[in-house]
Amino acid sequence: MKTVPSQLYIDGSWQDAASGQTLPVINPCTEEQLAQVTAAGAVDVDLAVCAAARAFKTWRHTSGSQRAVYLRAIAHGVEQQKDFLARLQSQNNGKPLTESHIDVGDVVATFAYYAQLAEQLDAQQNAPVAIPSDDFSASLRREPCGVVGLIVPWNFPMVTTAWKLAPALAAGCTVVLKPSEVTPLPELALAAIIAATGLPAGVLDVVTGTGQAVGAPLVAHPLLSKISFTGSNAVGSMVMKMAAADIKGVSLELGGKSAILVFDDADVELALSLVMGGIFFNAGQMCSATSRLLVAESMANALLARLKQACEELVVGDPFAAGTQMGPLVNRAQYERVLSYIERGIADGAQLVTGGGRAEGCQRGFFVAPTIFNQVPLDSAIWREEIFGPVLCVRSFASEQEAVALANDSEFGLVATVVTANAERAARVSAALEAGVVWVNAPQVIFPQTSWGGMKKSSIGRELGPWGMATFQEIKHVVNALV
Ligand code: NAD
Repeated sequence: MKTVPSQLYIDGSWQDAASGQTLPVINPCTEEQLAQVTAAGAVDVDLAVCAAARAFKTWRHTSGSQRAVYLRAIAHGVEQQKDFLARLQSQNNGKPLTESHIDVGDVVATFAYYAQLAEQLDAQQNAPVAIPSDDFSASLRREPCGVVGLIVPWNFPMVTTAWKLAPALAAGCTVVLKPSEVTPLPELALAAIIAATGLPAGVLDVVTGTGQAVGAPLVAHPLLSKISFTGSNAVGSMVMKMAAADIKGVSLELGGKSAILVFDDADVELALSLVMGGIFFNAGQMCSATSRLLVAESMANALLARLKQACEELVVGDPFAAGTQMGPLVNRAQYERVLSYIERGIADGAQLVTGGGRAEGCQRGFFVAPTIFNQVPLDSAIWREEIFGPVLCVRSFASEQEAVALANDSEFGLVATVVTANAERAARVSAALEAGVVWVNAPQVIFPQTSWGGMKKSSIGRELGPWGMATFQEIKHVVNALV
């Protein structure tokens, strides 16, 4: 296997932290140490932001087409190393290798898409704006917003990074990236690929370390124009407060407690596959997990019986073993958090259908059995809070109206899935759901061209598509007097 850098990437060179400190990276399948990476602090963050600020002076004036050359080279570099990157991601995060390959493909597609958007920018720059006047003309410029800080979590490390980094570079921003301290290896490998493209020094700076030591000083840094954050609501709220001090822009991708609605006309086998994928992919560690199943009363028993059987047959184990369908949770903290939610569910009177503890046959590693609760009380923690693990909560409904009301009864509004054979119902329910993305009879497919993000407490702003790049742009109108 290739070696992965362990140092900070600042101003075009790999370097240690000023303190000389490191932090361990753990393989969640074996609980053994995979690597030691540099643990940065405020001094290193300052070096990184200052390097990005110097680089911005030049990078901001490059054309979209020039930036597209780098974005395409990054997509190509990732594609070339896709097997290595997928293996690294599975080692560090614990997800099955098949899932890591999907992630890597998504990264390639995202950089390739924003290369196209960067090229299109050149033709759009200084575009005339129609105004009702014979005395003035107006034109529109889209300019990069400055040095941006990108803070990402551990569940889809390279993907969340690509969704921010590709549009930020395409827009002409320079970037300080803070990977999760739990999964820094995929981003360090990605940074090495990006460095090899010859991207000018300082345009991308990568600073590894904890949220307290790196994330907080990054958000507070006065030279930063904007923070794009993906993570928990608790930290997202802190980020917003810190950014308020000097009126920095923020975009936030936070938690979810999304619903999958299965109507009485749905195909049971299709419903089964969509419910299973929506909660057990990545061991349920998905902001978009459809962790609340709402099923029509008339088919609840049939679907639940199929789900119980499918859960008990799900192959849980080593991410590298052929046939593995679910790996471990990412670390001990997440493992204990999920088990404590399961205990609360039982204590709150939810009916445990299957699972409910450590996965059988896994001696080491942070494995939790696929778990289903039925008749989950509406006011219980497992119904209302994001568990971020392989735990499905089920309730049945008597009418379409009740199904939509139950789905919308959440402080979150990230995604939803609708399973029905009735196209009119699908359209009606999709329109009524409070969610940023709705899948109808479809797995959770995400295209770079469509938006990502949600309503209510799930997000501020949208990633992907042109909206993802607009996040990193300032709009300027130039109005001329016609003399
Ligand atoms: P987290 O909030 O604990 O950490 C996210 C990042 O923030 C990490 O890099 C962490 O080091 C950093 N951080 C922690 N404290 C900080 C501080 N004080 N200042 C600045 N940065 C700080 O989240 P997590 O446990 O890594 O990820 C799980 C959460 O992410 C879940 O809630 C999940 O729903 C959410 N998520 C959302 C999306 C989305 O698109 N909406 C995608 C993936 C994950």
